[in-house]
Amino acid sequence: MNLLIMGPAGSGKGTMSEKIANKFNVAHISTGDMFREAISKQTPVGVEAKGYIDEGKLVPDDVTNRMVKERIMMDDCANGYLLDGYPRNLAQAHAFDEVAYQIDKPLDAVINLTLDYEVLVDRITGRRICEDCGAIYHIQSKQPQVEGVCDVCGGKLYQREDDTEEKLKVRYEEYLNQTEAVIEFYREKGLVKDINADQAIEDVWKDVEDYLEAV
Ligand SMILES: [Zn+2]
Repeated sequence: MNLLIMGPAGSGKGTMSEKIANKFNVAHISTGDMFREAISKQTPVGVEAKGYIDEGKLVPDDVTNRMVKERIMMDDCANGYLLDGYPRNLAQAHAFDEVAYQIDKPLDAVINLTLDYEVLVDRITGRRICEDCGAIYHIQSKQPQVEGVCDVCGGKLYQREDDTEEKLKVRYEEYLNQTEAVIEFYREKGLVKDINADQAIEDVWKDVEDYLEAV
């Protein structure tokens, strides 16, 4: 089964990706990991990408597209793949479409995690992290026993600089700008399944699992 997962930061995309990969035995391909791997293994495309990154430039779509192609042809994708973070614009989506058909691994479904902006604001701005062990808390939904103190290690809890509403708004709008056209592209193909991500993790997972079992 070949899948793509979409959703803004804070939608639980990482957690769902892990669960999907485990349950359905598909390779989870997150763009960041893919780049790091290709660069450290010094594959031809990896070397090319590193050249751009070292010069402080964005990696061109063409290089990214070739890297994804290389990646989904690897053995661990024999049973399928789960793309995460790619395609992130319409040009990449078109290019990927061609590649996927060429190598006979077209997408079977797109999981689109949706939630209201206000919910995202609550989730992100309420997040507190332990500066020692990295445990994650929330000022409403996952309070530590003692305010500001980590239950696990006694470390001090802090709010990440990126977890403010101002920064979230910028990230969220960027996400929408980049991905709206991509989602529409797949929606027209009948591939998109919207999943309500404003639920407990177990319930989001149940919806995802039920859907994928029927794909
Ligand atoms: Zn801690």
